[in-house]
Amino acid sequence: MTIDPETARQIDELSLSNQPLLVLDVDDVILEFIRPFPEYLRTRGFELKLESFGLNGNVADLSSGQRVDNETVAQLVDAFFEVQHDWQKLAEDASETIARLSRASQVVLLTAMPHRYRQTRRALLDQLEMRYPLLTTERAKGPAIKRLRGDHPRPVAFVDDMYYNLVSVRDTVVDAHLFHLMADNSVRALMPPIPQGITVVEHWKEAGEKIARSLKL
Ligand SMILES: [Mg+2]
Repeated sequence: MTIDPETARQIDELSLSNQPLLVLDVDDVILEFIRPFPEYLRTRGFELKLESFGLNGNVADLSSGQRVDNETVAQLVDAFFEVQHDWQKLAEDASETIARLSRASQVVLLTAMPHRYRQTRRALLDQLEMRYPLLTTERAKGPAIKRLRGDHPRPVAFVDDMYYNLVSVRDTVVDAHLFHLMADNSVRALMPPIPQGITVVEHWKEAGEKIARSLKL
């Protein structure tokens, strides 16, 4: 796994501190995604029939009932990101909890989305007063967090709703504290078991306490 060169460039623009590092995913960790996305789909003539984990294979044309191909799903997600400010709200308790944690840690947001949406997302997060640095990546998250940590062996915590992102970090930054959080826990029923070494948290209040303890804040 190598770092996305654009993500590396974004990291090099930041001033990294020696404080404990807290890296947060955005979709379904800070901003709701899986709740508003089906509502958006309906306005476009599609529906989400979440019968397995993931969007591919689970989006159907409303008029025909036919499942659409993965390319169409990707186009719909892209189109959603274009208008995200109309749809995506803060996850419950995220803002206050992160603000509290940020008093003694360096908070960085790391979102796996095409780089071309970075400014759109930045504008939405600013509007919501989530003024933490935002990085985009189109590759695995592990190498990005390794670089973010810097040379100083500071403690690291990472929160994501996608187990493969957590596994990527577990395999790259072996002592990172990993938390699986989903803005909508109803999706858990469709997920494979969370891999070892990852702490499952049900909501931001629980996450805040466990993150603070892991980073010794
Ligand atoms: Mg996510």
